[in-house]
Amino acid sequence: MEIIIKGLSKHYISEGKTVKALDHVDLVIPANEIFTLLGPSGCGKTTLLRCIVGLETPDEGEISIGGEIIWSRAKGIAIPTEKRGLGMVFQTYAIWPHMSVFDNIAYPLQIRGERKEVIREKVARTLRFVQLEGVEKRSATKLSGGQQQRVALARALVAEPKVILFDEPLSNLDAKLREETRKELRRFMGELDITAIYVTHDRVEALALSDTIAVMRNGHIIEKGSPQKIYFNADHRFVADFIGRANQIDAVVQDNLNGMTLVQTGMGVIQCLKRDLAAGSKATLCIRPEFIRITGQARSEGQNIVQGVVESLEFVGEVYEADIRIGQERLLARIDPDVTLHQGDEVSISLDPNHCLLLSA
Ligand code: ATP
Repeated sequence: MEIIIKGLSKHYISEGKTVKALDHVDLVIPANEIFTLLGPSGCGKTTLLRCIVGLETPDEGEISIGGEIIWSRAKGIAIPTEKRGLGMVFQTYAIWPHMSVFDNIAYPLQIRGERKEVIREKVARTLRFVQLEGVEKRSATKLSGGQQQRVALARALVAEPKVILFDEPLSNLDAKLREETRKELRRFMGELDITAIYVTHDRVEALALSDTIAVMRNGHIIEKGSPQKIYFNADHRFVADFIGRANQIDAVVQDNLNGMTLVQTGMGVIQCLKRDLAAGSKATLCIRPEFIRITGQARSEGQNIVQGVVESLEFVGEVYEADIRIGQERLLARIDPDVTLHQGDEVSISLDPNHCLLLSA
């Protein structure tokens, strides 16, 4: 179901100061997508989620789910949490330690007063879906972290919600388990026709899981788009920087030529992916470290080929990370470990114009 948020605001008073946790947020969350709210700590992700759930009362605005208004200050509508048709999965799993896996999952159906046979059938189906058959009699807290999170997911899904909300569900798992559980979650969600809103500050999780990512800062949605759009073609400097490591270089637009935009930088003139920016305007040239190629240790010439000196070199496993001084600029590059390089080497570097992204300054 589609979720539409209009002009949603929420403030808190903290130590005598007003904090605008949400500042007139407008957002359309398409049906049956995994939609991620991504942003640094304190940007308002959890507040937005809690307003949708009904655990927080906004100051103003409107929220509707599947065409039904669930909250509106102006229209005086406030549907209670339990009637909003939502499932929730929290960071802490929030499963009950004194209950078995079965009872944990059955709980939402029991409080709804469903018949025993219906409960048994629905819990069995959900257990199969999250691949936890055979452990239903175990105490939920005797399971591994990943299994406990699957119990939490099953409990959220068993009541067949219209929308499922995840608040940093993987952040209590260690790195390896987090990766495995992330893949599982993606697979589970892909099999369901359900809208999911996923809150995280982990950019890899957001990139790997989402159909759409909305990046938040200071109570605002700064930008939204597919993971590829946000990573490769962000419109905002903050977004490009937050989603992954990026070299950001001051530039002045010179010209638009042959479907490319030329900019003047401290490394000379660079050809970039075309952006509608007027000649003379200031911009930021953004190049991800993985798109910087060392073309050779001998001097070479050509379009977007610049000369630099290796200032530092660090082996980080699958690649070397090198700081390369080019004129007044310094670029971080990720370099194939097969390339033999030493600190102080002079190198020629090629910058693929299709990965030279221009952002408004
Ligand atoms: P995190 O990733 O750290 O959970 P977040 O993006 O989810 O952060 P929120 O928890 O929504 O951010 O908080 C947004 C802002 O509102 C922050 O400045 C936070 O300190 C403030 N805030 C949130 N809840 C309260 C509260 N109950 N009382 C006072 N201030 C609050």
